[in-house]
Amino acid sequence: MPEKYKWHLLDIEEIFNILNTSRNGLKKEDVIVLQKKYGLNEIADKKQISPLKLFLSQFKNVLILILIAATGISLILGNIIDAIIIFIVVILCTTIGFLLEYRSEKAIKALIEISAPNATVLRDGTEVKIPVKEVVPGDILILHAGDKVAADARVIESYDLTIDESILTGESEPVKKDTITLKEDVLIAERTNMVYAGTIVLHGRGVGVVTDTSIWTEFGKIADMLSTDDVEDTPLKKRINQIGKKLSIAYIFIITVLFVIGVISRPSVNQIVALIIWSVSLAVAIVPETLPLIITGTLALGAQKMSKNKAIVRRLYAVETLGCITAICSDKTGTLTKNEMTVRKIYVDNQKINVTGTGYEPKGEFIDETGEKIDISQNNSLNMALTIATLCNDSKILYEDGNYRITGNPTDGALVVLAEKASLSKDILEGRYKRVGEIPFERERKRMTTIYHDTSSDKKFVFVKGAPEMLLSLTSFIYTDKDGKDFIKEMAPEDKDKILFISDQMATEALRVIAVAYRYIDNDNNKDETFIAEDIEKDLIFVGLFGMIDPPRDEVKDAIIQCKKAGIRPIMITGDHKLTAMAIAKELGMMEENDENKVLTGVDLEKMDEKDLEYLANDIVVYSRVLPIHKLKIIDALKKRGNIVAMTGDGINDAPALKKSDIGIAMNSGTDVAKEGSDMVLTDNNFATIVSAIKEGRTIYDNIRKYLVYIFSYGFSEVVILAASFFIGLFLFKEPLYPLMAIQILLANIVIEDLPALGLGVDPARPDIMRQRPRNPNEPILTKTAIGLLVVMIATISIGCTVIFFKYLQNLTKAQTMVFATFILYEMINAFICRSDKYSLAKIEFFSNKWLILGVIGSILLMLLVIQIHFIGQFFYMVPLSLMDWCTALLIALTIIITTEIFKAFSVRVRNTS
Ligand code: ATP
Repeated sequence: MPEKYKWHLLDIEEIFNILNTSRNGLKKEDVIVLQKKYGLNEIADKKQISPLKLFLSQFKNVLILILIAATGISLILGNIIDAIIIFIVVILCTTIGFLLEYRSEKAIKALIEISAPNATVLRDGTEVKIPVKEVVPGDILILHAGDKVAADARVIESYDLTIDESILTGESEPVKKDTITLKEDVLIAERTNMVYAGTIVLHGRGVGVVTDTSIWTEFGKIADMLSTDDVEDTPLKKRINQIGKKLSIAYIFIITVLFVIGVISRPSVNQIVALIIWSVSLAVAIVPETLPLIITGTLALGAQKMSKNKAIVRRLYAVETLGCITAICSDKTGTLTKNEMTVRKIYVDNQKINVTGTGYEPKGEFIDETGEKIDISQNNSLNMALTIATLCNDSKILYEDGNYRITGNPTDGALVVLAEKASLSKDILEGRYKRVGEIPFERERKRMTTIYHDTSSDKKFVFVKGAPEMLLSLTSFIYTDKDGKDFIKEMAPEDKDKILFISDQMATEALRVIAVAYRYIDNDNNKDETFIAEDIEKDLIFVGLFGMIDPPRDEVKDAIIQCKKAGIRPIMITGDHKLTAMAIAKELGMMEENDENKVLTGVDLEKMDEKDLEYLANDIVVYSRVLPIHKLKIIDALKKRGNIVAMTGDGINDAPALKKSDIGIAMNSGTDVAKEGSDMVLTDNNFATIVSAIKEGRTIYDNIRKYLVYIFSYGFSEVVILAASFFIGLFLFKEPLYPLMAIQILLANIVIEDLPALGLGVDPARPDIMRQRPRNPNEPILTKTAIGLLVVMIATISIGCTVIFFKYLQNLTKAQTMVFATFILYEMINAFICRSDKYSLAKIEFFSNKWLILGVIGSILLMLLVIQIHFIGQFFYMVPLSLMDWCTALLIALTIIITTEIFKAFSVRVRNTS
């Protein structure tokens, strides 16, 4: 806020008063007023270019400037019509350039916008996720490990809240935060009760009241000094830029040769000026300058389309790399499965209990092994297990619009729902037990601990829940129920074995197993007590096991089949138990019944050296009980075996693996840190979405190739046609011949032929696109087959047009009109041929690309308009053609079907024999 307060020196209640808020957060009606007052919580991007500037920047192009000069010269020489037409072309070229660039910029901006992060705040007492830009002063901000802090805030609750403030202070050492009001003014780095926008939560959990947003945050004050990321060129764009540059040099060289020879053989000033205009027009028409813009635009629009299909592309190169992916390493929970947990089985005090009910509705029954309903009030062990599960838990059940939903993570949610089924309400329990400390769940620890003060007995409890084998290693006792009374006995090795056996049994049924345990600790009632894990998570009393189902996502099975057909290896990487992971992998068709040797655990990975893992990498399907750090090892091994790896992740510690993989895929529900390290974010967390994105990526790349073949086919052919007639004329008649006039070339290239090209850019996926092996990233965009096809096309068009030109040469204008018509007809047919460099035209679904058909119809109508309506045609030096002429042009143009079909048949045969 613009008013200056030293928030770190103020008490929390004082701050609440100033900001007119409370621990329950702002009221919805206040938020609207505050948003008006303080604006959006974002720092304006100063690099934005205005549309006008973008349009004017198109005139920086040398060729355009020469064309403008040519307009002037034509005017001086009295060629008013030429001057007008060339000027129209200038406007057209610059407008097309502007539109392409504007479209790319807008698409890229839209991508940045949709991948903008969210913040969790309390409003009217309810936790809500909102876009960071909607945060206002007074909001109560909830902070978890992996969050990027959304605004400056005064800490009002801290559970081991540890922040990386290096972006602000340059200090790499993490800073622990607490709620204590500071007594004297200190530097930012020492303000232990404040968190600042842009910094990262490394561990723990915290709550803060937002004090400053946008430009008033400490980050906002230095934001000017930090430059925003420029959109980097993708490898494909770089490669195409190179092709474009080489081509431009070659074209300009040829045009210069034609120009010089032309000047020597045509000495009059008028003729030389005409030649200058001709050469420059030719250069403008065929030099592929807009190519990089078109590639960026196609990638960006493709990315936008993918984002609508739930895969938000954060880095443009991901679109093309997707087509090269050979292995997808996916988390299990939430990506392969639904992450909708429901507790099905319980084990307490030697009893196995089944639970009924579905979803998050807290309705269901507890049934014993004989099928009898259990009287929960009489079952102390079950009550104790449920109490731990509910209090060692950050989730809540909400009932909204006739549906039950949970807040927090689904594992916790399933346990709260289970307790409610037993009429054990979290709210009632929290009336008696007061939380005094916690050690949040972390993947590395595989457990969560809370410390409660029991107000009725004045005892302090440590409640722990987590992975069974992990918890058992910290356990020394077992809780049992003897004659209705608690009985705690020492845990014998056979007790441990039995519990592990039951846990494995549950895991084999694809259940995720969570164990619960507790202990008492000394009650010294010291308010700011800090709890050290090693001190309190020991000598625990084991109470029970919960087995919860998390059904596989329905659509994933099919996606796995698609992956296998497409030469992509699906790999599961999970923190869960080996048996649970295997059961799910089998259900999904990732592995067969006897594929036991295709599984490695985190412990195996620790023992293995790099070489061993590399050797096995291509066979392993499931990695279980792994830590985020193991993901790096797995990526390394897969890459060394030549894989291009996509890796999913959501936690703060997944960020290095996301960066190291070829495509890092974060979950929308994941941490901000993971998202920032990723190339793509899945809004639905779904594995099937990755496979759809790969299909889209392959299609986009394929379409760029088709587009290139098409535009190169007419650019090259024109040069060959012009050069051939030029030299033949020089040789036969001692003066060069021009089969196309300058404005005819401009009209053909800039207006007529570009329409089908746009359609090719959005060609639907080939039916076999997911039946082919992934693309080799080193493979040139124009493959040998594509180049072969291109050569055949250029040869056919050049020969056909040259023959037509000389056949009609008695009347130069008519000959030029015929060349123009034949050339365009060739390219219209070509647009369809370019849809596949492999398959015969007969096999390509003709009507599946309506944009291409519309483009071709539009181009043909334009051509007919210009040629057949003499009033228009005269400006382009063309004459109307007879039906016979049109038939001749069409017949000649149709020859391209024969030559390309022969080529395709030949190349298929060569491929099959090699
Ligand atoms: P992934 O998402 O990587 O497929 P996962 O979600 O199954 O794996 P993690 O989240 O890494 O695995 O959890 C590892 C183990 O930690 C789980 O198998 C479970 O035993 C335990 N665990 C998971 N969530 C909690 C929780 N909220 N509280 C306590 N323990 C948990």
